[in-house]
Amino acid sequence: MPVCSFCKNAYEFPKGTTVVQKDSSVRYFCSSKCRKNMEMGRLTKKVKWVRKSDVVKAERAKYAASKASKE
Ligand SMILES: [Zn+2]
Repeated sequence: MPVCSFCKNAYEFPKGTTVVQKDSSVRYFCSSKCRKNMEMGRLTKKVKWVRKSDVVKAERAKYAASKASKE
């Protein structure tokens, strides 16, 4: 499962875009939204919706951990 280079979310393979650059570095994007934001030169830490998705991710991890401890 590739991890988006911009929003750091993991996504399923058929979705998203893989960009191989001239210096052979590979960038993975979960959506065109992430690709366009990266092309515009935006920083991940300064974009509100990425921070929001990080919060959601942390909450999901916490929920999964509590569920695993109950079982
Ligand atoms: Zn993304």
